[in-house]
Amino acid sequence: MAIQTRQELFTALFPTEPAFRWRQVEEALFLPNAKGWVDATSLPKAIREALMEKMPWMTCKAERLYKSARGDTFKAALSGSDGKLFESVLMANMRDQWTVCVSSQIGCAMGCTFCATGAMGFKRSLTADEIMDQLRYWKEFLRGKPELPQRISNVVFMGMGEPLTNYQNVKKAIHAWLKYTDIGPTKITVSTVGVLMQMEALLKDEDWPPVRIAVSLHSANQKRREEIVPTTSPDFLKKLTDWSHRYARIKGNNRHHITYEYTLITGVNDTPELAHELGKYIKGTSASMINLIPYNPIEGKDFTRTSKPHIAEFKKILETYGLNVTQRKTMGDDIAAACGQLVTESASQTSARDVGRIALDVS
Ligand code: SF4
Repeated sequence: MAIQTRQELFTALFPTEPAFRWRQVEEALFLPNAKGWVDATSLPKAIREALMEKMPWMTCKAERLYKSARGDTFKAALSGSDGKLFESVLMANMRDQWTVCVSSQIGCAMGCTFCATGAMGFKRSLTADEIMDQLRYWKEFLRGKPELPQRISNVVFMGMGEPLTNYQNVKKAIHAWLKYTDIGPTKITVSTVGVLMQMEALLKDEDWPPVRIAVSLHSANQKRREEIVPTTSPDFLKKLTDWSHRYARIKGNNRHHITYEYTLITGVNDTPELAHELGKYIKGTSASMINLIPYNPIEGKDFTRTSKPHIAEFKKILETYGLNVTQRKTMGDDIAAACGQLVTESASQTSARDVGRIALDVS
């Protein structure tokens, strides 16, 4: 059965209320110090009381919480409206602020061979409320820890799931953040493995917010990419090049740029030949930024992380093509919160991989 959204519930409860009431409800969710509907004082008392009884203030609840040994990454296993678990991550960024890595689905249907979420299979898409509330959850978490920096400056859709296959809910959550928080569109990144049909739809969608797009490339060799990302369609690379040019033409401005993401796995996609192939490929697209991600090991997979000297060599080759190459800092790998490591079991189970990690009191 489909999960009822807050807006649907509100409309069912108050069918004759004017449209601005719903805006007041949404606005209340983002009031800096509000702890519940009781603080939504712009609403009439009768509505507030009905909401306290019938509408969840928060659609996700922390079941387990982990902190990395360095204290710069937190991971929460959150239960959604139906009790199913998904993970969400808070990471310190360079500006002494925080980046939230949100999930858009529980599990993922894309099955990328190096990814723990992919190995889980697809369970369901998160509602717009559950996506939006991950940011609210972490804001509330930080409020309870005044010793930590308080500002969340960035949001990345790099958690569980493929955001473009949950397009409407992702878009709705982004619009709410843009409307009710001080996080601007250039601070929000939607990362996709390359769902071309949805990427085409995005080009025609005037309501698509001007956020950044990250394309998880992982190989510029069609055959190799099909091995790593099994959903790679025939002629994917050619079509992506074409899409990137149309994207730049239709949506292109400083705020709409594309970054490529490339997870480096020993012996799979990290050879000098593949680096040259990648450099040449990216040069033919409309973008020039590539972010190298050292592979994060997961249970049950034999892949290993490319060594530091090898990454440096790979990077150097790419730079000869005039590309802007960055390397992602690995964070939270000791609590399985790093890229590709997110996975959940049932709310009552503690996963074997989490035993021994630092669990925080969630109360
Ligand atoms: S890497 Fe992303 S798209 Fe691929 S299986 Fe994992 S969550 Fe899904």
